Parts: sequence; structure tokens; C-alpha cells
Amino acid sequence: MADQSKIEWTDATWNPVRGCTKISPGCSHCYAETFAERFRGTAGHPYEFGFDLRLVPEKLADPLKWRSSKMIFVNSMSDLFHADVPDDYICSVAEMMVRASWHTYQVLTKRAERMASLLRSKLRFAAEQPHIWWGVSVEDRQHGLPRIDSLRSAPAKIRFLSVEPLLENIGPMDLSGIDWVIVGGESGRGARSMNVEWVRQLRSDCHRQNVAFFFKQWGGVNKAKTGRLLDGRTYDEFPKRLTHDSDETVKQPRGRSIKRLRS
Ligand code: SF4
Repeated sequence: MADQSKIEWTDATWNPVRGCTKISPGCSHCYAETFAERFRGTAGHPYEFGFDLRLVPEKLADPLKWRSSKMIFVNSMSDLFHADVPDDYICSVAEMMVRASWHTYQVLTKRAERMASLLRSKLRFAAEQPHIWWGVSVEDRQHGLPRIDSLRSAPAKIRFLSVEPLLENIGPMDLSGIDWVIVGGESGRGARSMNVEWVRQLRSDCHRQNVAFFFKQWGGVNKAKTGRLLDGRTYDEFPKRLTHDSDETVKQPRGRSIKRLRS
């Protein structure tokens, strides 16, 4: 587990699975693959086997060791619902999230149908836990919109979309049942460009439907240069979080700050 993350919308990452395979156009320049393959063959390195999928059971208990409350992106270097991850192992990951309930977990997948099916069955015990947020990636209409429908069909307290890399105009969108939308452009070598009007459309969809909107980045070859301002300001909205901390405030949808709920 990395106790700090450079990803703008989370605090930390936890990878009880490593590696993945590509499934849709959003995977073309997968940052996790690029990172993992750099270490293929490096004996003793966590990515000694590159981006080959493998379970990492010795990492399962990591959230218990982390005593202060964090937002944790689950499997930033994989996809928990990949076909090669057994149901029982996914359940073990979910059991840990239920147990270490002082954290907020962000579970993001491109395998939305499998996630939805498990949330209705073997993961029912974790589905509606308010500290576990379930999300799908949306890069275009063809692959993204069916994932949103799958997510909406599943029981969940907080549902979110990671619209990154945004590859085409996908709005106007029906965001019923969705609590949070993250939008971002692709970064790195060969990055595909994102049109400002596509982003404005999604911002407008979110605000019209009272959904928290987080603008992560413009991306491009040098993402530090393009930054994350949209029409002169940042958008760092989040859904309401449960926390064990008392009397702290967190930024809430549409820039309002409200008291955190006690769990
Ligand atoms: S699903 Fe995610 S982790 Fe897997 S290849 Fe695609 S972008 Fe990479």
C-alpha cells in the first residue's frame, strides 16, 4: 500500500491484485502497464513479473495497519473484477474493506457487468456500505454508457464515474443514481486530446443533476503544464464521506463545506 498517492482524487493506493489486460480504448496507454513493465525481470521488485496478473494475498491486511482515516483507491495497478481474479478473492478484499471501516474505499472497474453481478450476490454484504464507493470507467459512449447502466443496476450507496481519458463528447448524460463524476484527459507520450466543450458539457450535466464534479487534469504530453483549471478555477467536489474523525469538514459537492458525518 502506498500511503500517499499523486492521483488528485485519492489519498492512497492499495493493490491486493497486480497486473491486468486491456479491454477497451481507454486502456491503450495504460499508465499501470507502462509502470509495471519497467520492472519486469527485476528480482524481488513488486513488479518483477511486469503487468502479468497476479494475486497478492500478503497485501490483503494492509488497511488494518493504517490507523488514520484515508481515501484509498483500490487496485490502482489492476482491475479487481478481471476474469482471472476468483470470486472468493474479491470477497476477501471486500471483507477487509468492511472490517477496516475507518477508511473510504474507491473501487473502480472497466468490468462493470461482473462487478454489478457480484454486488447483487456474493458481495451483497459490502454493496451498500457507505464507506465503499463503487465506480466504472467511461472513456467513450460505446464502452462507457453500458458500464453506467450496469453500475446503476447494482445495489450501492455511492456510485461514481471516472471519465478518463475522455476521448469524445459523451454528454448530455443521464446521471440518475450517480453521486460523483471525475473527468480527465489522457497524459503522457501519444496522449489523445480532449476538447474543452466535452468537459463543459459534463460539468453542466453534473451541476444540473446535483452530482459532485471533480476535474482532474487536461493531460497531454506535459500534464504539469496544462494543469487542471477549467474556465479559471478548479473543481474538487466529492460525495459526502463517512468518517470516524469528529467535527472535521470536507469539501462537498458544488464547493460547499459541511460537517462530516460520524459513522
Ligand atoms: S482495465 Fe485499467 S488497469 Fe487494466 S489495462 Fe485497462 S486501464 Fe490498465
